[in-house]
Amino acid sequence: MERYQLFIGGEWCDPSTSEWFETEEPFSGKVWAQIPRGVQADADRAVEAAHRAFLSPEWADMTATQRGALLRKLAGLIEANAEALGAVEQRDNGKLMAEVAGQVRNVAQWFYFYAGLADKVAGAVVPINKADVFNYTKYEPLGVVVAITPWNSPLSLTAWKMAPALAAGNTLVIKPSEFASASLFELARLTEKAGFPRGVVNVVTGYGHEVGEPLVRHPLTAKIAFTGGDAGGQRVNEAAAPGLKKVTLELGGKSPNIVFDDADLDQAVKGVIAGIFAASGQTCMAGSRLLVQDTVHDEVVARLVAMVGEAKIGDPAASDTQIGPIATRPQWEKILRMIEMAKREGATLALGGHALSGPGYGQGQFVAPTIFTNVRNDMRIAQEEVFGPVLAVLKFRDEEEALRIANDVPFGLAAAVWTRDLHRALHCVDRLKAGTVWVNNYRSTSFATPFGGYKRSGLGREGGVEAIKEYLQTKSVWITTRPNRANPFLLG
Ligand code: NAD
Repeated sequence: MERYQLFIGGEWCDPSTSEWFETEEPFSGKVWAQIPRGVQADADRAVEAAHRAFLSPEWADMTATQRGALLRKLAGLIEANAEALGAVEQRDNGKLMAEVAGQVRNVAQWFYFYAGLADKVAGAVVPINKADVFNYTKYEPLGVVVAITPWNSPLSLTAWKMAPALAAGNTLVIKPSEFASASLFELARLTEKAGFPRGVVNVVTGYGHEVGEPLVRHPLTAKIAFTGGDAGGQRVNEAAAPGLKKVTLELGGKSPNIVFDDADLDQAVKGVIAGIFAASGQTCMAGSRLLVQDTVHDEVVARLVAMVGEAKIGDPAASDTQIGPIATRPQWEKILRMIEMAKREGATLALGGHALSGPGYGQGQFVAPTIFTNVRNDMRIAQEEVFGPVLAVLKFRDEEEALRIANDVPFGLAAAVWTRDLHRALHCVDRLKAGTVWVNNYRSTSFATPFGGYKRSGLGREGGVEAIKEYLQTKSVWITTRPNRANPFLLG
């Protein structure tokens, strides 16, 4: 069995507790690796190592072009090792094998993108309103960035933070989820191979309250980039507040997928399925609220039930599996509790609504893809994130009502509109309170464009050119060109 070690200051080391916890394969329940249980002392060591690296000439004196070259080298190594990295992640969180290698190759693309951007973030010469000075701005890194990630897509969600943070010249401590840590150790090995100076990238594992929070609170931590649930995000924000640290938060969602009666229903039904049943619904951007116009409601529901009812559910390692297991036992229990809650609230069960066990379902950590109809927007199943394969269907009469229901939710991560009417589509784009809006598609993302949430779905953005600014601070520089201060006692 693999026994991992922490990666701190370029050394592989045991946790100060000398304790490890086990990680298991979600499908078989088989324990396959041991993960170090880091605590405060390990958090302190890691942040201090990252701080030393931040000040070291090996990193601080590197030009942005040289940092870009290092990131490009890392991207190449990720590409070359995509299968192996994907296999570790797949084992840890039970993702479909069919999608995981592609996802890891996409991780490499994030590093290529920010490698290219590293030496293109220019300050400005400011046309200042004073005659005797020259003013310009420049961007500087923040220092030690702590990246905290969840279990659903550990490598991707780390890359979203790591690539811009390193391109900007910061150093990093990564704290992956206790449920899916292993792939981050494999990524750390590749940073060693790529030749990053010691301490620029560190990986510390353990539980959120034991090691995550000490990382956030450490006085030398300059910034926290967090992806996780809104409750965890709130705790991280509170822990960061006394030190006035910079924080970006990518949190959960309850995203509306709106189908109008003039939509191409074949495409819309596929989009609804991709929105909620891909990755067994364990994605932040899941389209968990389907809003359907009353005139096509029954037809859309019937088509969904027919298509999803035939999905191949089972071993995520099999190439023809369409729906895999739930990644963690607590999450599996939570999904089943929320299904029971929706039944008690009076929603009508159109499909699924139960756990799956028996031959073909491994240790039985499965939830049947579930569709509830007759959902009212004030029900908890319409308002709270499930993070599982559970779709809540709500009916609407017209555009005004669709927009009112769509926006009447505490989250604002994403939304989609299905219609052939361009004016209606653009009107909805303007009115939807969400960080991402898709028109006639669902789930498109790219390193090239920002992603992030309105309302309780987060703070700041990841991806695109603008995200590198989340890892930089601006310095305004004043240079006297003509000494001329008539009266030193006056402001001006
Ligand atoms: P979580 O909030 O429970 O944990 C996320 C991470 O935070 C883990 O590494 C955990 O150990 C750590 N953590 C927990 N408490 C902490 C604390 N007090 N201090 C510091 N760290 C702490 O989330 P999860 O259950 O792992 O993931 C599922 C959630 O993530 C869902 O709500 C989902 O919507 C969200 N998510 C969001 C995005 C996005 O980009 N918006 C992407 C994927 C997942």
